[in-house]
Amino acid sequence: MECIGFIGLGIMGKPMSQHLIKAGYALTVLDRTPEVQQEIVAAGAHAGTSPKQVAEQSDVVVTMLPDSPDVSEVVLGKNGVLEGLRPGSLFIDMSTILPSVARRVTDAVRQKGADGLDAPVSGGQVGAQNATLSIMVGGSAAAFARAKPIFEKMGKNIVHVGEAGAGQVTKAANQVVVAVTIAAVSEALLLAAKAGVDPAKVREALLGGFAQSRILDLHGNRMLQRNFQPGFKMKLHRKDMSIVLHTARELGLALPTSAGVAELMNAAMGNGGAELDHSALVMMLEKLGNFEIPKAG
Ligand code: NAD
Repeated sequence: MECIGFIGLGIMGKPMSQHLIKAGYALTVLDRTPEVQQEIVAAGAHAGTSPKQVAEQSDVVVTMLPDSPDVSEVVLGKNGVLEGLRPGSLFIDMSTILPSVARRVTDAVRQKGADGLDAPVSGGQVGAQNATLSIMVGGSAAAFARAKPIFEKMGKNIVHVGEAGAGQVTKAANQVVVAVTIAAVSEALLLAAKAGVDPAKVREALLGGFAQSRILDLHGNRMLQRNFQPGFKMKLHRKDMSIVLHTARELGLALPTSAGVAELMNAAMGNGGAELDHSALVMMLEKLGNFEIPKAG
């Protein structure tokens, strides 16, 4: 079995790395928070000391970091993955970052005689814990075939979408649908409640029809229960909408609905919502309407 390096052991990376350990892979792990790293070392991994050293120890290096600058620094920076990567190694970034940065990183990796994949995920913390993530992959067919057994330990719906960057473009598309649907569910439940109709009953009725969605089901319930513990943090989804709008701007494309929801996310950040679940977007619409959906009994 290939030796795997895993960098970034947060909400997602921690359970993902644990699945790989359980599957019998030898792991070298690294996180900038020592206590977090220690927890995975106690579960059977070797402790990494720098991205370069992790790459030197590994056949395959996986990163699960917050944002584009983090991936750039960890891979391309001083003592970065690139310095330790061997010809024939495989680098897999599973973070959600800009497609243009993903392409730049894969280019750099290929220049070292290694190969790279962008493989962002959907399915959240629960998907990571249950190894049921959707994994959307960009890169060469050969790299995808090599990585597939590793992906299968962490996810279920694993799709090779296209060349480098295609995985990140797919994830951006995913985040458009999720953000806009959260806003739609928020507006629907708010409309019902302000009109004096029980929003819990409205959700129940809508779940049986064409408006049915997992977001209406799970996040609609969060809104009714007033449970905004993350889950997926508002600040990370706002980051993803920046990726969407930045990419659209690069392409000369207008996405007015996405832009509107991103503005509401900006407002949520300014109102102390950064660390709340992204379903807390409903609170910004409540503020605009000066009306709050009552907590379900
Ligand atoms: P997180 O903030 O919980 O974890 C990130 C981890 O990376 C932290 O433990 C942090 O200490 C570590 N880290 C940051 N910079 C580092 C560096 N330079 N060196 C070593 N470690 C470093 O974030 P998360 O929720 O696990 O998300 C990770 C990625 O997955 C993000 O791109 C996010 O958008 C994406 N994602 C998250 C979810 C979700 O539900 N949380 C779902 C799908 C995709």
